[in-house]
Order: sequence, then structure tokens, then C-alpha cells
Amino acid sequence: MKLRTWNTATKEYTEVNPINHDGIIRIYNCGPTVYSTPHIGNIRRFIVADLLVKTLVHLGYTVRSVMNITDVGHLMDSDHAEAGADKMLIAAEREKLTPEIIAAKYTQEFFAILNQVRAEPANFYPRATMHVPAMIEVIKNLISNGFAYETNSGIYFDVTKFSNYGNLSGNTTAEVEPGARIGIREEKRHAFDFVLWVKAEKEHLMQWDSPWGRGYPGWHIECSAMAQHLLGESIDIHTGGIDNMFPHHENEIAQSEGASGKKFANIWVHNEHLLVDGKKMAKSAGTFITLDEIIKRGYSPLAFKFLLFQTHYRSKLNFIWSAMDSASDGLKGIQNFVDKIIALTVRETDDGLLNSANEINSEEYSKKFANALANDLGTPQAIALVFEIIRKFNPLLESNGLSKQEGIKILELFRSFDKVFGMISFAEQEKTTVTKEVADLVSMREKARQEKNYTLSDELRKQIIDKGFDVKDSANGQQLTPIK
Ligand code: AMP
Ligand code: ZN
Repeated sequence: MKLRTWNTATKEYTEVNPINHDGIIRIYNCGPTVYSTPHIGNIRRFIVADLLVKTLVHLGYTVRSVMNITDVGHLMDSDHAEAGADKMLIAAEREKLTPEIIAAKYTQEFFAILNQVRAEPANFYPRATMHVPAMIEVIKNLISNGFAYETNSGIYFDVTKFSNYGNLSGNTTAEVEPGARIGIREEKRHAFDFVLWVKAEKEHLMQWDSPWGRGYPGWHIECSAMAQHLLGESIDIHTGGIDNMFPHHENEIAQSEGASGKKFANIWVHNEHLLVDGKKMAKSAGTFITLDEIIKRGYSPLAFKFLLFQTHYRSKLNFIWSAMDSASDGLKGIQNFVDKIIALTVRETDDGLLNSANEINSEEYSKKFANALANDLGTPQAIALVFEIIRKFNPLLESNGLSKQEGIKILELFRSFDKVFGMISFAEQEKTTVTKEVADLVSMREKARQEKNYTLSDELRKQIIDKGFDVKDSANGQQLTPIK
């Protein structure tokens, strides 16, 4: 099935089809600036990036994805060489550590968080500091293609030279008179011009050699260079939070296309913000919430993930603590059902009734699930489907009206759903589940025994043992016990 996603560049739904001959979907996700603990809004962003990749894989695509780690050059005001210090250096000063240690500390924390929310979005996590030569190459191309100019403080991109500037965000150069928006220094030609390379003072902590003297890269150039370096000049999908759209992504397009002469990203996917008290999260207002805070208050990080999935990624989500209670209850509802199904599938006898009323049509549910996600990552619909299944089968389960065979099918279905969700635990099942494969061997063995074909029956027993179960014949039929 094909994914249809909202493309923020064209403002329309677009079917995802690979643009490169090898059929691989190349995705670049703007990642964290590793200078402080991420808030739950940032985490929404990482979960959406993960959801996109997992959905594509679920729908049968082959994906190569990159999420960058920004560990240099993200200035407080990202477009000026002089205005605003590097966020990494501010953190280094605050914590009395070197920028390298700050980066290592928060990169590690970032990965720990990904683990806690069971997100594994990327095949590569390039660090900006490791790709400075690639950035210098792109800047050199931009200069020779006439898109960049040098000043005393650095190299700037001249937005007026790039005719498509503003196509993504609608912030066209014509709208803003030079100097109108931000008091530009004389050396910058236009208000939207942005820095590609900053010439560093001697004492600046992070600096590299370049054709323009020692310095460090601007933030936007990092993503253009790393995307090109790891994925090529034209990628399928670029993602980011909605605040990244301007100026960051607008500038990425200008740089990438200015350097390569080719279209940079086919589809742009932007997630909406998570708000607290209806506003942007801010430390000063006490609304800067971290995953640790969620855990400290007794909630699971996966309940937070459930909360996120109840809202479509392109809708704003206002976080309130009471919503975490309902999210916890919701996730527990799914988990309890799964636990009961697991218990059914490992029961020694199968006394559940099997009739057409309690049969599960896995194929139909799989299709509905894929459809929900294929429709611009419709997690609220996918979750609603999960509850529809629970509402239908839980009463049967409670009244012992569900056969083991159906239980196994439901479990397989939920397992496939969870490859995308990553929020259900199948831990017990790992050790004890009778998979459909084992159940089929058991039925084949039953038939062989009825036909007194003991050679085949012994052969099948060996195959069942190989799958981790001992099988004994009793008056009640064959009994399975997991081999420890
Ligand atoms: P940063 O580490 O500040 O560069 O942000 C990392 C990512 O989180 C960026 O892609 C932002 O667009 C995204 N982001 C920032 N704030 C929020 C928010 N409140 N909700 C969702 N995403 C956000
Ligand atoms: Zn980026």
C-alpha cells in the first residue's frame, strides 16, 4: 500500500514514490541540538520521525533515514554571524564543561530518550562537527555558483539570487524591505540573507580551517551538507517541526539547490507543536516539561507516546497532566487485553469455543490498520481500530468464548501493529507464546497420530522441540510446555 502524506511545500497530499532508481526512500530528519535536555515537544518531533519511518516499512517501502545531531553552529539567532552565541557554547559556560563534553552528554541523553519511547528513527546519526569538510565543499559551490558572498564576519547566502526563495514558507524576499525586519548590519545585503560560515575570533572554542580563514559553520548549512553527503543531492522526504520551516528549511532548500542545481526534497513533512497551557514551553513559566518529569509523576514514557498518537501529528496538541491519566488508562486497556490473549495462547488446553461469530478476520483488520496509517499517518484512527478489536473480542475472552487459535491470530495482529506503535509489551509472550507455526505443527501431529503415522508424528515432535516447546500426549490431547 502507498503512503499518502501532506506535503507542506505544495500544500497537498502526495503519494510517496521513490524518486531514485534504486527504489529506496531517502529521509532526512532535522534532529536535536545537543545543548540541553529535550522537552516533550522535541520528543513529539522525534516520535513523529520514527512513526514515519516505521509506517513506510510497515507499508512495504525500503527506507534509508538520517537524523542529524547538531553539535556546533546553532546560534541563538541563526542568521547572523555576530548576533547571538552558539547554543553549545552557552551550555558549556553554564555547566562549566567543554562543548565536546556537553555534546557527548546530551547526545547520550537523547539516545536514552529514544530508547525510553521505543523510537529508532534513523540509519545514520551524523554529527555536525564530523562533517565540516562536506559543509565547506557546499559553501565553495555556492560561492562559485554566485549565491554566496564574503564579508568581514563570514560567508553569507544571498537570498535574492535564488529565485525560488520563499516557495516553502511563503516568506518571499519581495515582502521584506532590506533592514525592515531585523536591523541588519551594513555588510549583510538583505534581511533574509543568512550566514554559511562564521569567521571565528581567536578565543572561540570550536573552529576549523577553511578557505576563508578559521571559523565554524552556520546551522542551516549543516543539514544541507549532511543530507547530501549521506543521502545524495535529491531526497524523497525531509521532516522537521513546524518551526523549522522558516528560516531553517527555506534556507536548506536555497543552499542545497543553489549548490547542486537539482531539486532537494520531494516531500516536506512538518509536525505541529506540542503546547503546554496553550503556549510554547518555557523554563521561566514552569512549562518546560521533560520525559523525566513524566516518569517522576508515575507515568510511563509509553503512555506519553499513546497520548501523542491520539492526536494527528499535524494538529497542535495542548499538554495537560490530566490527559496523562486517560492516556495511561488507555494504554493499560490495550496491555491488559494483550496479557489476557497471551495467557490464552499458552493455556495447555483449548476449551474456547470456535464458531463463525468469534473468528477474527486478521486480513481485514490489517488492511484497515495500514489504511489508517497510509492516510497521512492516521494514528488516531489506528488506535480507534485497536479498541474496536478489543471491544469485540474482550467479552468473548472473558466468557471463555475465544479459541486458542483465534488468540494466536489476534496476538500476531497486535504484534504487527506494535511494530509501528512501539508501546505494547509482549515480554511474557517471548518465552511462552505458541506461534501459529507451532500450532500448525501440533495440528499436523494430531492428524498423524490419528492416522497412526508414528514416524511422521515423531518427526513433527522434533520440529516442535526445535521451536522451543516440549510436547506430551495426554488423555486431553497434546500438551505443550515451553522449554526453559
Ligand atoms: P532543537 O533541539 O531546538 O533544534 O529542536 C529539535 C526539534 O524539535 C526541531 O525539529 C523542532 O522543530 C522541534 N520542536 C521544537 N519545539 C517543539 C514543540 N513544542 N513541539 C513539537 N516539536 C518541537
Ligand atoms: Zn535541519
